[in-house]
Amino acid sequence: MENKKELRTWLDSHKLPHPLVIAGPCSAETEDQVLKVAHGLKDTDVTYFRAGIWKPRTRPGNFEGVGAIGLKWLQRAKQETGLLTATEVANKAHVDLALEHDIDLLWIGARSTVSPFIVQEIADALKGTDKVVLVKNPVNPDLALWLGAIERLHTANIDKLGVIHRGFSTYEKTKYRNIPEWQLAVELQDKFPDLPLICDPSHITGKRDMILDVSQTALDLNFDGLMIETHIDPDNAWSDAAQQVTPESLIQIMQDLRIRKETS
Ligand code: PEP
Ligand code: MN
Repeated sequence: MENKKELRTWLDSHKLPHPLVIAGPCSAETEDQVLKVAHGLKDTDVTYFRAGIWKPRTRPGNFEGVGAIGLKWLQRAKQETGLLTATEVANKAHVDLALEHDIDLLWIGARSTVSPFIVQEIADALKGTDKVVLVKNPVNPDLALWLGAIERLHTANIDKLGVIHRGFSTYEKTKYRNIPEWQLAVELQDKFPDLPLICDPSHITGKRDMILDVSQTALDLNFDGLMIETHIDPDNAWSDAAQQVTPESLIQIMQDLRIRKETS
């Protein structure tokens, strides 16, 4: 792990596009909603279709996800659109179910990365998997916790490992939902230059109209990809309504990023 060369990128060898785009709703709500969003993202820059089915909510009493039935909806979305599938796992039971349903990418959420026991349980359940595993930064700006989670997964022989920067909670009043503290992601990138680094502008901003600018900053900092929450009817989403974009807006964001790159 001390050796920079140990964690190699799998993006090039799998011929994945740059930037790698992961998109889909914060939460799977109904089969119809999942399929409509997936069809809206078919034939776009999106490679992985995301949907949270187990939702770790900060406060109880909010929608906590549809649970395992959502895995079937993801499978159907993949069959119908060809998009690869992605969901969050927060314990061994989730991992076992996600693997049984052949989900292509599993990510560990910010509220799980803070807990070494949970990360270890997930790492043990994933041991040797050939699925893609991405680790979100912990909710608090603690690089060691983030590194510790990466080390636990790496030690479990997970080859297709990467990280997601989703910003950090703060007491400060800022324009962000979670402040980016870009220097932490840059420090991580410096330690592991080949570890794919994805930005989640949706959870950083909390607002759909800031997503383009934050995505641009991430690409300027050489991030490898973007995870953008996308919903067919964002204002009526069951979670994170203010930050989700429509499939049409996502296509526009990708186009604007391309134009900015060409003219820069
Ligand atoms: C999510 O991706 O919907 C999510 C819950 O994110 P985070 O773990 O970054 O809060
Ligand atoms: Mn969300």
